[in-house]
Amino acid sequence: MGSLLVLWRPILEILFIWIILYSLIRFFQGTRALQVLLGLLILAVIFNIAKVLELHTINWVLTKLFAVGVLAFLIIFQPELRRALARIGQNTMFGPFLKRGGTVDEVVQACEHLSRSKIGALIAIERDVGLKNYIESGLAIDAKVSSELLITLFFPNTPTHDGGVIVQGDRITSCGSLFPLSQSHELSRSLGTRHRAAVGLTEETDAVCAVVSEETGAISVSVYGKLTRDLDGESLRRVLTSLFRPAERPKGWSEFWQKNWKKLRTESE
Ligand code: ATP
Ligand code: MG
Repeated sequence: MGSLLVLWRPILEILFIWIILYSLIRFFQGTRALQVLLGLLILAVIFNIAKVLELHTINWVLTKLFAVGVLAFLIIFQPELRRALARIGQNTMFGPFLKRGGTVDEVVQACEHLSRSKIGALIAIERDVGLKNYIESGLAIDAKVSSELLITLFFPNTPTHDGGVIVQGDRITSCGSLFPLSQSHELSRSLGTRHRAAVGLTEETDAVCAVVSEETGAISVSVYGKLTRDLDGESLRRVLTSLFRPAERPKGWSEFWQKNWKKLRTESE
């Protein structure tokens, strides 16, 4: 019993540090901030080694660098940090997929409407891989997903209609974003850049892209670099729902470990 009481303190501390590090890495995944964060972590490790070995000059240099580094990090990534803190406050850091049902419905409704009106559209829905770099290529916004807003963003001859919209959880986070064009030879020659951008993004990330053709009004969906064409609203709903059904998607810790365990195994094979 006594040894149990001694154990809980370090376990709690390790767990706490683990959660903080995991949240930070997850939050900054897919952004340049992650590299800076890792740089600071490496500095901290070298600093501690220098301290143990009593290398005073290195210690002195690193102390100065570290102080400046932390300050620079806080200033440069102030908007991201503010959002992260707000998210912790809303307790949605570990459950970005919880409100997925609404997102699917709104996206499907928008695509059906845009298809009837033959308005071209490209909507990327983020899954595990962060799309922040692509958000930066467009106009960053932050609004609750709604079919009305999606339709408005793609309305022809407006500044926002060109490029793709990015949806993260239940928020629209950018419009006019540029996605990488697929170089795949398997795609039909009749498909232009909008469809190639959808395929290109899903080749590089695990996002799912819905596309509405301006020429034909046809709805397509792309995931893992495969494009399925000519869907009706119901089939689009089925595809999106199957991809985001919470039962199929392990969340939080288990998801993190499954993903990384898989990665470790494939790398060691
Ligand atoms: P549609 O069937 O609607 O004509 P398409 O596949 O034939 O689609 P284009 O006619 O070339 O494609 O569509 C051009 C539009 O695609 C552009 O106006 C722009 O909105 C979008 N687009 C082009 N390149 C990109 C890109 N790299 N990322 C995101 N959107 C893009
Ligand atoms: Mg075209």
